[in-house]
Amino acid sequence: IAGFQIPQSFEHLDGISVAEWVNQGFPQGLYDLYFLPFAKSSLNSPDILSAGELLQFFHFYFFGNPEGLAFSGTKDDMGTGLVQPIVTAIQQQENQIITEATVNQINYDQGKINSLNFQQGNSQNAVPFWVEKNQLLSNNEVEYYGAGDRVFIAATNSQEAMSLTCTHQGCTVSKQDDGTFLCPCHGALYNEKGEVLEGPAKRNLPHYKIEQKNNNSVQLIALNPVTLEKTTTMEADYYVIATDVPGVKQLWGLIKGNNNDQIYQKITQQINQLAVADPFAVARFWFDRDFAWEHSDFSSLSGYKLTDSITLYHHIQQQFIDWAKRTGGSVVELHAYCYKETEFPTQEALLTTFEQELLEIVPELVDANCLHRELVNQKNFSGYPPNSYQQRPETRTEIDNLFLAGDWVKMPFPCGLMERAVSSGLLAANEILNQEGLQRRTILTVTPEGLLKI
Ligand SMILES: Cc1cc2nc3c(=O)[nH]c(=O)nc-3n(C[C@H](O)[C@H](O)[C@H](O)COP(=O)(O)OP(=O)(O)OC[C@H]3O[C@@H](n4cnc5c(N)ncnc54)[C@H](O)[C@@H]3O)c2cc1C
Repeated sequence: IAGFQIPQSFEHLDGISVAEWVNQGFPQGLYDLYFLPFAKSSLNSPDILSAGELLQFFHFYFFGNPEGLAFSGTKDDMGTGLVQPIVTAIQQQENQIITEATVNQINYDQGKINSLNFQQGNSQNAVPFWVEKNQLLSNNEVEYYGAGDRVFIAATNSQEAMSLTCTHQGCTVSKQDDGTFLCPCHGALYNEKGEVLEGPAKRNLPHYKIEQKNNNSVQLIALNPVTLEKTTTMEADYYVIATDVPGVKQLWGLIKGNNNDQIYQKITQQINQLAVADPFAVARFWFDRDFAWEHSDFSSLSGYKLTDSITLYHHIQQQFIDWAKRTGGSVVELHAYCYKETEFPTQEALLTTFEQELLEIVPELVDANCLHRELVNQKNFSGYPPNSYQQRPETRTEIDNLFLAGDWVKMPFPCGLMERAVSSGLLAANEILNQEGLQRRTILTVTPEGLLKI
C-alpha cells in the first residue's frame, strides 16, 4: 500500500478479487473495520473488485496523499456548489452548453470522427437504446429489463414494454397482485396500462416499442416520442466522451460510417469489456426532530446488511441547516454502495431495511415522524473486476480526435473515483492543447512510492 507502481502493482494483484486476497491469512478484525468499508466505498463489492484496484485506492487515499481522508463537502447542493459555477465560467467565455441532448448518431470514417447528430428534448425521444434483461425479476409471464430506478416490464412475447420509473420522483413502481403498479416511495398508483389512478404522480408511465431482442437484452424506442426539435448535426475538431460506462457503450453503438478498420474494432472490444458494478442506493429522510450525534457528520459504517455510511445533511449543507433551524427537524442520508440484488430485489426491500437500520444507528429517531424520503438507486457505476486493468481504454484513443474521460479509464498514475474522473478529463484537455501546439497544464498526482516520501 505504501508504494503503488503502475503497471507493476496491477501485474501482481489485478488477477485476484479482494475477497480472495483477504482469504490468504489477512487479519479478520482489520478487514472488517477498515478494509471492507473502504473497499465498498469504491462502489464495488469485494467478491468482484480487483485487489489491484483496492490497493490503488488505499495508496491514493491513505499513504500517498496527505489530504486523502480529509473529506470536503459543498456548502450547497452539488448543482449549486460545483456545476453552476463551471457553467457560468464556460458561458462567460461565450461558449455554449447544450443540455438535455440525446446523441442519435456519431459519424465515423476510417480513423476519424467527422460529426455527431443529436436531438433535444426529454427522454421520450426517438433514439433507440439497449437494456439488459433482469433475470431475477423475470418470470414465465412477464419479463423485466434494467435495474435500480430504470426498469421496464413487458409481457412475454409482447412487442411493447412499459417504463416502471414513477413519473413523480423516479422510484421504481412494483406490480401488485391485482395488476396495478404501486410506488414504494410516495404511494402513487397506476393501473395495468400505466395510467395514474392516485397521485402524487401526474403523468402516466411511458410505453416503448421493442425494436430488437436477443437472449440478454432488448432494444427499446419510445412509442410516442416527444421531439422538440429536428436532429442537429454538430461538427467539432475534437470529441471527448465523458459519460458513465452504460453511456459510452450506448454512444459507441451509435457509430455509423466506414468502420471496418482495426482501430474501430480495437476500441469496440475495449468498450464492450467495460463492466458495471452491483447497484448502489442512497436514501434521504426528513424527520420532525433532531438527535444527539457524537460522530463525524459523514461516518462510514460496518456490520449492517445494507447501510455503509450515514451523513447528517442538517449539519453540513446550508439549505438543510436553515430548514432544521426553522422546524427543529433533521435530514439524514444513508448510502449502500454495492448491494446484492439477490438480497434486495425490490425498492420496498431497500427502503424497509434502510429504515430499520437507521433506527438501530440512531435509536432516538424511533418516535420521530418521517416527513419525506427520497431514493436514488442505480446500476451504472464503473466496475473494477479482476483482470480488467490490461484491457481498459486510455484517455487518448487511436482515433486522433476522440478522447475518453471518466472514473473507468486506465490512468498512468494512481487515482480513484472522483479524482480519476477529474484527472482523466484534464489529461483529455492536455491532449487537445498538445495537438493545437499549446502548453499543457501541470497535473498533480500522489507520489507512487514510499511512506516517507509523503
Ligand atoms: C453514493 C456515492 C457516493 C460517492 N462518494 C464518493 C466520494 O466520497 N469520493 C469520491 O471520490 N467519489 C465518490 N463517488 C464516486 C464519484 O461520484 C464518481 O467516481 C464520479 O462521479 C465519476 O465521474 P464521471 O464524470 O466519470 O461520471 P459521472 O459522474 O457518472 O458522470 C457521467 C455522466 O454521463 C451522463 N451520461 C450517461 N449516458 C449518456 C449519454 N448517452 N449521453 C450523454 N450523457 C450521458 C450521465 O447522466 C452522467 O451525468 C461516489 C459515488 C456514489 C454513487
